[in-house]
Amino acid sequence: MRRCVGCGERKAKRDMVRIVRTAEEGNLEIDARGKMAGRGCYVCPTESCITAGLSRNKIAHALRMDVLSPQARDELRERIEDSIDNDTGEVRR
Ligand SMILES: [Zn+2]
Repeated sequence: MRRCVGCGERKAKRDMVRIVRTAEEGNLEIDARGKMAGRGCYVCPTESCITAGLSRNKIAHALRMDVLSPQARDELRERIEDSIDNDTGEVRR
């Protein structure tokens, strides 16, 4: 079980989006398979949790990064949303 950075609830990993700060490059990546090396955090695939996770810098804090710029936040939001299937609301694998 993993804790969502948005709502704080614990859910199964497969029901959440994993965001990773990669070990090598330190880039932010959406880890659909849950296998990437690096510090990761999880968020539910819902608008409210994504918004909550991005606000007040929770994701950056969870990944032990500096504050994300508004641009980096927008970009990350897009990538998180892209990883979610619009029809089912589930995370694409
Ligand atoms: Zn959540």
